[in-house]
Amino acid sequence: MTDSDFDLRPLAADPARLRAALDAADPATLMLVLVTLTGDAAWLDRARPHIIGPSSYQETMPEALRAEIRAALFDVLIDFAENPRPLPAIPDGPLLVNMLSTAAGTPVPDDYVAMMQEDLRPAAIDPRGMVWRQLPDPARLAAFHVVIIGAGVSGLCAAIRLQQAGIPFTILEKNPTVGGTWFENRYPGCGVDTPNHFYSYSFEPNHDWSHYFAKRDELWNYLETVADRHDLRRRTRFGTEVAECRFDDASQRWTVTARGPDGDFTLEANAIISAVGILNRPKLPDIPGRESFAGPAIHTGAWDEGFDWRGKRVAMIGTGASGHQAGPAMQPEAARLTIFQRSPHWVVPNPNYFGEVADGKKWVLAHVPHYARWYRFQLFWAFADGLHPALKIDPDWEDPAHSINQQNHRHRLFMERHMRRELGEDSPLLAKVTPDYPPYGKRILIDNDWFKMLQAPNVDLVTDGIDRIVPEGIVTVDGTLWPADAIVFATGFQASKMLAPMRIIGSGGTDIHAVWKPDDATAYLGTTMPGFPNFFMTMGPNTGLAHGGNVIFMTECQVRYILMALRELIEGGHDSLDVRPAVHDAYVAEVDRLHSGMVWSHGGVSNWYRNPAGRVFAVLPYRLVDYWRMTSHFEPADYSFAG
Ligand code: NAP
Repeated sequence: MTDSDFDLRPLAADPARLRAALDAADPATLMLVLVTLTGDAAWLDRARPHIIGPSSYQETMPEALRAEIRAALFDVLIDFAENPRPLPAIPDGPLLVNMLSTAAGTPVPDDYVAMMQEDLRPAAIDPRGMVWRQLPDPARLAAFHVVIIGAGVSGLCAAIRLQQAGIPFTILEKNPTVGGTWFENRYPGCGVDTPNHFYSYSFEPNHDWSHYFAKRDELWNYLETVADRHDLRRRTRFGTEVAECRFDDASQRWTVTARGPDGDFTLEANAIISAVGILNRPKLPDIPGRESFAGPAIHTGAWDEGFDWRGKRVAMIGTGASGHQAGPAMQPEAARLTIFQRSPHWVVPNPNYFGEVADGKKWVLAHVPHYARWYRFQLFWAFADGLHPALKIDPDWEDPAHSINQQNHRHRLFMERHMRRELGEDSPLLAKVTPDYPPYGKRILIDNDWFKMLQAPNVDLVTDGIDRIVPEGIVTVDGTLWPADAIVFATGFQASKMLAPMRIIGSGGTDIHAVWKPDDATAYLGTTMPGFPNFFMTMGPNTGLAHGGNVIFMTECQVRYILMALRELIEGGHDSLDVRPAVHDAYVAEVDRLHSGMVWSHGGVSNWYRNPAGRVFAVLPYRLVDYWRMTSHFEPADYSFAG
């Protein structure tokens, strides 16, 4: 959708519809639209004292001011409807900074201007798209071939961009359809805890999300719809698992060996984009007797709808993001739910977590220009960069065991208060569920009625260590047998062996897993590895987000960078590009340096972001705006070119 696609003329025909819809929308976001359309900064001054944060529930404007904003915006929109003319552009410079800061309820630095100028534009401008500088020779372009491994969030994004650039590609997908993690994960209660109006492609907004935080089916349907809209299935070989990618130094091409429905085959490719994700190989715990259990047992990440748990005594091991959703979803129908918690997670309440999106708000998202983009910025700030200062260790902080800086401490107190409110001041559960490490050390969770569930009469929270699994249930180290008819392993994924079990053999026959030893994955910008020419990763090393964030944002940044690399290759008539070892090493050294000052390296924390040697390999130390900037241009000097 572009500015000219906002046809405002129908608004004049049904002003009552517009008025009702504005009533359902967020006043702070409407105010930002009003300033965008009028350039009148006075609205910012009036609203600012009443906006203490970017979330809708952090706006406390007097009702009279809200009504004034709605009325003024109504008049402006009707005027545009009756007197059609181009919409004003997104402001620049100080006015934009003023708007961003007012929207966030806190000063937003100048370095957001470039990114927001891009992100606030209507989507079809394809801000992260790629434009050829000189149109490539059609024959050369037609002979170029990219293999994308995976048709999940990242693979679809890469495919859409390659298609827009006219670069031929094939997607190889092990599942029978698209969707990746949102196809595979189907445990009870499965859903996202990043708000959907942010957790979606910037160029494929969905104004019809039923809830602010959608469940798995709706997310999967969104990805299915996007795949169909871009007609990607015809370029995809489903039921096809890649076993090996091997680079040939003589031809400077890759050979991909895969197994599909008709058996093994190979494909030649000039470049490979791995979009396999890191959270899809379930990790079953190494607990003695696991195989001896008499009843059914399942991992959340490999759920089978036939798994028989209703009316049964269910034992669930693990209380991370998956367990946190599966537990409350199963509790009402389980005869008994016994939860084994090794260490508690920090849990934050969110008033919108269960909220449905009102019809009027959906209408405004779709019809009022700039609303959806400003709303997206507010969510970006609330769930990503606005939290970043809370992740950095202040070396002078007075209570380093429990929190790491002032803001982090405030968040700790806030979450502790929430627990006390939910459980009661004297609840014996409080000691069990309060983490002894700083907030954000493990992935933060949104309260999915977890504490309410813990108080249900059919729930036990067991914090003693597990000694063994026996046919009748689970025995803890104190010798107690916790009887169970079914076991749910919510025990996470084998994240550290990135790209496994695929064999990736680069220049000179080097195996990437040997270079990574195999738990120490590194890559320049999380995307390219020296010695693996024309091999690109999405969601590669140190590109995950643990404090919130939005991996779709990350993927879009990576895909844009990859497209710029391919442009350099194709326009320059080169055969391959290979990141220079010194560039890679300097990047990794800086990532490690930054991580040593961040919460994930805190001595009291265990998390899946670190490898067995303690190095943080999974998550990004930077703000999203930094990563956006680093991936928004391609520096040829960082690479050596062949051919
Ligand atoms: P996870 O965060 O790795 O949690 C695994 C849980 O199992 C932890 O509580 C862990 O305890 C426990 N555990 C592991 N081995 C154990 C053992 N041997 N004995 C006892 N307990 C054991 O895995 P996850 O919950 O599947 O989440 C993984 C990631 O997927 C998340 O961090 C998130 O990025 C993503 N995810 C997102 C959503 C969402 O958006 N809502 C939902 C699901 C997953 P310790 O903490 O003590 O290690």
